[in-house]
Amino acid sequence: MLMQKMKELSIAIFLTAFFIVLGTEYLRELGRYHSQQQQTIADPQFRRDFFSDSMRENRERLSEECKTFLTNVENDVDYYPIPESSVDKSLKTSYVDGWMSERTYKGKRGHEGTDIMASADKRGLYPVLSMTDGVITSLGWLEKGGYRVGITSDSGIYYYYAHLDSYADIEEGQNIRAGDLLGYMGDSGYGPEGTKGQFAVHLHVGIYSFADGKEISVNPYYVLLSLEEKKLEYEFS
Ligand SMILES: [Zn+2]
Repeated sequence: MLMQKMKELSIAIFLTAFFIVLGTEYLRELGRYHSQQQQTIADPQFRRDFFSDSMRENRERLSEECKTFLTNVENDVDYYPIPESSVDKSLKTSYVDGWMSERTYKGKRGHEGTDIMASADKRGLYPVLSMTDGVITSLGWLEKGGYRVGITSDSGIYYYYAHLDSYADIEEGQNIRAGDLLGYMGDSGYGPEGTKGQFAVHLHVGIYSFADGKEISVNPYYVLLSLEEKKLEYEFS
């Protein structure tokens, strides 16, 4: 009799615990869903993980604002910004996820972009191409960015290319097609106009949202990864 009662009691305890765990898990999932529905582009996690495989696969979990931004970038980007050399296969580029790593020139800040490094540390060698269609909305020297080009796509997203060595024949207001030559990779910046050689030759890529007049950067790393198979070929050596 007592054994029977004990058995019933333990089954009841087990079932109660089971449903508590299940319920908690459900509520947690619900909470996650709701917090993602309220997520804006300014959310640090959204900015950091932007365009990752898991974000793209689970896009239905994103808020409308975030989903629209993701879709716009997907539609904008066509080509990796550095072509392959048709004559010298040793000329390569590489990059790591350096999102928000520390920068110290003129005050501490987080790195808001991806640096594409050149296997040959030689300024003026690698062509820089536009990843997207758009209009050149900024051109010229910036103390931190050196010779930079900013292209705004039709969807209003700003694509920023910095530290160029020199420009192609381009001007502000000009329409650009994806794959068009913007200039050559360099090491300009970190000083008054014309300063070069303060760091290794590389292309800094930035991607910005300008929703509501607020400038918000997102991590370009996964966007560049997605363009690995979309490299054009140029003759340079
Ligand atoms: Zn950079």
